[in-house]
Amino acid sequence: MQIQSKLPNIGTTIFTVMSSLAVQHKAINLGQGFPDFNMSEELVSLVNNAMQQGLNQYVHMNGLPLLRERLAQKCLNLYSNNVNADAEITITPGGTYAIYTALTSVLNKGDEVIVFEPAYDSYIPNIEVNGAVPILISLQYPNYNIPWDEVRARITSKTKMIMLNSPHNPTGMVLSENDIAELKQIVQQYNLFILSDEVYEHLIFDNKQHLSMLKYPELFERSFVCFSFGKTYHCTGWKLGYCIAPKALTNEFRKIHQFNCFSCNSPMQVGIAAYLQNQDAYKNLGKELQAKRDYFRTQMQQTPFKLLPSFGSYFECYSYEHFSNESDFDLAVRLTKDYGITTIPLSSFYNNKTDNKVLRFCFAKKQETLDAAVERLIKFKG
Ligand code: PMP
Ligand code: GLN
Repeated sequence: MQIQSKLPNIGTTIFTVMSSLAVQHKAINLGQGFPDFNMSEELVSLVNNAMQQGLNQYVHMNGLPLLRERLAQKCLNLYSNNVNADAEITITPGGTYAIYTALTSVLNKGDEVIVFEPAYDSYIPNIEVNGAVPILISLQYPNYNIPWDEVRARITSKTKMIMLNSPHNPTGMVLSENDIAELKQIVQQYNLFILSDEVYEHLIFDNKQHLSMLKYPELFERSFVCFSFGKTYHCTGWKLGYCIAPKALTNEFRKIHQFNCFSCNSPMQVGIAAYLQNQDAYKNLGKELQAKRDYFRTQMQQTPFKLLPSFGSYFECYSYEHFSNESDFDLAVRLTKDYGITTIPLSSFYNNKTDNKVLRFCFAKKQETLDAAVERLIKFKG
């Protein structure tokens, strides 16, 4: 039997490719974005307790009510948005699923979606599997700013949605007030939906503020805003997240969600609902991760790699064009095989394989991991 593929040009995600290579060569994995330090013991025991108390059956299909109430409270505290826990928040098995479901709720065949590259690698296949068309716009290298004039120029009668990701994976770019002003003008003029991937909402540094779509009523009214507990609580393997969207949008989102997943795992929702009372856990996250980032970037000065601007996420990008012309993919493979360091080549976040000679490093690691990685990179002579 042969399937006529809906995604004929899609291979295996770069994160799996590079992590497998890292395992094969026993390399230090600064590629795929996951912490190697332990998550909160308190949260682990809250989940344990929930299991032991027998809270192991289906919760409500939209998510544990208490968890949604606590998220609504958080949203009010942080973004002054009084979202309705019943009608506007849906718990999902991860942020990626929330993004896929939001796209699937909105997109019809032939619709166009503005996507900025480098782009997180699930976006384009998620658009294409719905028969819609990604309109790819490159962020301006090396600062990775959004070229708003080009956005205006690329809008057509078929444009349905614009996708945003701040803090941005892979570049660490964050939206500015000017970006928000441009966005407001464009989405209102052309009546566009917004998909806002905010999984790194708390991983923002250098005293920058996270400008969430939730903060601006005229943006929120047309937005699906997607989050991941995996990133906030250092438990990427839990694959739990949520989507906040106005009632009418959430209604459509849930039509898809209820027959694709129905409900997410219960003990983790019980544990996270309790843990959300501890506001310091997410409020201190930026400070904690900035310390790691600052440590890593200082240590990296001993290597030939050149830091690019970065203000958030688990990642920093480094350029090597001043000493080599090798393709970023080849260099990433060579670094893994010969030097025992795994990174992600930035060309894999571009459909057209733009290669600015940049590698992405994940610094969400124990200090000894970062030290060992830099020690190996110092030996790298190009
Ligand atoms: N969006 C971005 C930009 C990410 O980096 C990630 C990381 N995994 C996700 C979405 C998805 O998160 P999750 O693991 O919860 O699906
Ligand atoms: N978000 C993580 C990253 O960018 C990986 C997630 C995944 O492997 N799909 O590295």
